[in-house]
Amino acid sequence: MSGSCLGLRKACFLLSVSAAALLLLLLPRGQPPAAPRRRPPPAAGPSGPPLQRAGPGGSGVHGTRAGSRGEPSGALGGRGRGLSGSPQPVLKSRLGPAGGSARESLELKDIFIAVKTTRKYHKSRLDLLLQTWISQARGQTFIFTDWEDRELRLKAGDHMINTNCSAVHTRQALCCKMSVEYDKFLESGQKWFCHVDDDNYVNPRTLLRLLSAFSHSQDVYVGRPSLDHPIEAADHVQSDGSTTVKFWFATGGAGFCISRGLALKMSPWASLGNFISTAERVRLPDDCTIGYIIEGLLEVKLLHSPLFHSHLENLQRLQGESVLQQVTLSYGDPENKHNVVSVGGVFGLQQDPTRFKSVHCLLYPDTIWCPAKKSHNS
Ligand code: UDP
Ligand code: MN
Repeated sequence: MSGSCLGLRKACFLLSVSAAALLLLLLPRGQPPAAPRRRPPPAAGPSGPPLQRAGPGGSGVHGTRAGSRGEPSGALGGRGRGLSGSPQPVLKSRLGPAGGSARESLELKDIFIAVKTTRKYHKSRLDLLLQTWISQARGQTFIFTDWEDRELRLKAGDHMINTNCSAVHTRQALCCKMSVEYDKFLESGQKWFCHVDDDNYVNPRTLLRLLSAFSHSQDVYVGRPSLDHPIEAADHVQSDGSTTVKFWFATGGAGFCISRGLALKMSPWASLGNFISTAERVRLPDDCTIGYIIEGLLEVKLLHSPLFHSHLENLQRLQGESVLQQVTLSYGDPENKHNVVSVGGVFGLQQDPTRFKSVHCLLYPDTIWCPAKKSHNS
């Protein structure tokens, strides 16, 4: 209020009130805290492909194969994928163990790790994870599945989450699980959300070291792209007149992490079932939709990290000590059994076809089932 209206107090008061009322009327109302810079796009038409390859990107991430995992209609199938080649030094200085500037004292309990699984893999895949890395990160690991399995419930307690999503390998079912993962993370109050598949080994120590380089209140999206170029999705008309948006995404099969600060900004498109409608609108698989929301809508860049690994790359190139420095590992599916990391000296290939047990014994030699006195033999 003005204090210079001594003479004309009444008139001045009235004038101030009307000015304030006018100002109030002009103020924007009801905007979410993270106001979209672009509105969610309209549904992609049935005829045009919703997703296309973009031109070559200059990321330094090698790889060429883009495939599908059984998706009936999408141009990229169940997941954007297709990375081959060696671990790359991309942004290693920024994302490697010594990188980062905004260090904070992060503890493992600050990280929410979501493992996506399905009924048929409870025995063949999850048991191995429970025996190995999950045993070192029990408190922060949650298993998202699609079936009320009594045996798994006994082992995991309330860390097994039955999403009630259907147990099929379709874009919709996988997006349904991601949607529940995201909501549970927001509910948890933890600082970081990390998603992995049930054929990933997570090294809790290197994960913690990586995330400690950032602040959870900053916008951080870190993982490994599966393609060597950004993808392009149909979007509404942009300021430059184009109708598509180009973005990078981290492949779900190698795992990725998102800071709480960024996850909160994703909320209008990701929380309480909105993730499913966003994915439907752009007709993208779950991991691509995450990239679309973050890079395409919120304009936050994916940090490309060479420390995350899926079985779409040649894992044999990861050898010896360097295997123990990675954040995630994976192993090839039955048709690609030889695609495993190279670690020797603990278990043979027959006893440990995925190599996860060997890796685990090298990292945690005191584990009860690890052979005594055999460690760091690479
Ligand atoms: N998955 C699922 N429902 C299915 C099939 C697979 O939730 O019907 C999960 C599976 O547990 C894994 C992820 O989806 O965490 C990827 O599956 P998979 O490794 O078999 O396929 P990829 O895409 O890696 O070839
Ligand atoms: Mn897989």
